[in-house]
Amino acid sequence: MLKLSNWFKSFGDHEVLKDIHLEVPTGDVLTIIGSSGSGKSTLLRSINFLEPADKGKIQIDDVTKDVQTMKQEDILKLRRKTAMVFQNYALFSKKTALENVMESLLMVQNLPRAEAEEIAHHYLEQVGMGDRADYHTIHLSGGQQQRVGIARALAIEPKVILFDEPTSALDPELVSGILEIIQSIAHNNTTMLLVTHEMNFAKEVSDQVCFLENGVIVEKGDPNQIFNQPESERTKAFIQGII
Ligand code: ATP
Ligand code: MG
Repeated sequence: MLKLSNWFKSFGDHEVLKDIHLEVPTGDVLTIIGSSGSGKSTLLRSINFLEPADKGKIQIDDVTKDVQTMKQEDILKLRRKTAMVFQNYALFSKKTALENVMESLLMVQNLPRAEAEEIAHHYLEQVGMGDRADYHTIHLSGGQQQRVGIARALAIEPKVILFDEPTSALDPELVSGILEIIQSIAHNNTTMLLVTHEMNFAKEVSDQVCFLENGVIVEKGDPNQIFNQPESERTKAFIQGII
């Protein structure tokens, strides 16, 4: 499970996340919707400590830390429990698919090479990329690169996967393949946070949806409630604007 409380983040004097509280039970999918600049990526990046929050508490399973008092080793410990899937894939273009998936198994988890390779092959198979393991990622299509990005996230067996608009950069015909993979890994033991503009998919896959506006969670609920009967006028206006 993932829990954030009193979670704040500013860039200079621009307060981007304001007193975020959220709790996602183990294996659940929380989708975050909101307009551009509302803080969705910053929220995911703060959970992964790519952009550490300024204030607040984070809990992943049995580990709870206050960001103001935590040490570097706490950050590394929590970071190992999360993995991120990026809009632009963020792969090493000069490495092969296999090497990309192996990277953090070798460098972060310090696994022996043979074991890392076996795990990487397993997850590349799972995302339908078993036959492309030795391709340099520069020679893969966007959809194939994102499959590698998902395999890389799965390979570290994280407690929490953070998906930041995983299909936004893809040609329309490649989107459904990636959504199917996300659907197939959802509701196992991994907790998921998903930022997406694919509202039909969000309705299908999410246990909870939250609407973020100017760094504030305006409303949170099950997908049916948020999409069909939003309580807040602002959520309603946002939903009506995008469908
Ligand atoms: P989009 O839908 O366009 O991806 P978003 O909801 O993900 O938007 P964020 O990227 O989290 O929004 O940005 C929220 C705000 O924080 C924006 O005003 C942005 O300019 C600002 N911001 C984000 N990252 C930084 C940074 N590294 N330095 C300064 N300001 C930043
Ligand atoms: Mg974003």
